[in-house]
Amino acid sequence: MDKKMINHTGGCFCGQVKFTVKLDEVPRVFNCHCNDCMKKMGGMITIIDLREGAIDIDKSKLGIYEHLGGSGKKIQKHYCKNCTAPVLTYVAKWNKFYLYAGLLNDISILKNVNNIHYKDSHFPFMENFDSTIKS
Ligand SMILES: [Zn+2]
Ligand SMILES: [Zn+2]
Repeated sequence: MDKKMINHTGGCFCGQVKFTVKLDEVPRVFNCHCNDCMKKMGGMITIIDLREGAIDIDKSKLGIYEHLGGSGKKIQKHYCKNCTAPVLTYVAKWNKFYLYAGLLNDISILKNVNNIHYKDSHFPFMENFDSTIKS
């Protein structure tokens, strides 16, 4: 890791899961619009691509739900055993962990995002998103 990494903290809704995570100055962030996320999470989700070993977390507090992704390789959703908030997703195809972005204590650093699986599936209201922002 020769890039400059910055420490951040975060936690789940109920506070039982807390973590420290090292992120790039400009983290790689994705909005995923895929059907799997919609069914698992109720809508599009925002995740941050983590470098290997970037997160320090007590895994004993996490439950795991596992399924196969479109590639036939496993995907694991790690969630708080108490409040069921999603914490991490592991994608075997890329051998990578992703952090659910909203768990960061400071979301002001998240200024850039890439939308993925948008063409495959997305809520139609995304197409006139600006006009729906009321506050
Ligand atoms: Zn929790
Ligand atoms: Zn998805």
